[in-house]
Amino acid sequence: MPCSGDDVSRRAWIDAAQRVLAGERDGIACPVNDDADLMVDWVPFETEIGGEFRLACPRCGETNFVLVRGDSPTPARRVLESDEAESASEEGCASDG
Ligand SMILES: [Zn+2]
Repeated sequence: MPCSGDDVSRRAWIDAAQRVLAGERDGIACPVNDDADLMVDWVPFETEIGGEFRLACPRCGETNFVLVRGDSPTPARRVLESDEAESASEEGCASDG
């Protein structure tokens, strides 16, 4: 799949995220390929109030996250613009000069 036309799917993800934030859990079509309904999981933060919704397509595997802090959810586009800087595996990659 080419990496062009990203704007369309981005808008669709925002739309899906807002539906989740509005309380929907089922019947949200995959924003990327429209091939299945998204699975919505709530993942609470361990260290602070809030959590995040994980939106995953069971067919094509597309996944996105929607951050929720306290009572007021952050706009979905903030999530879509932030990169996931979470890599727990950092071994075997050391180069010494
Ligand atoms: Zn899909």
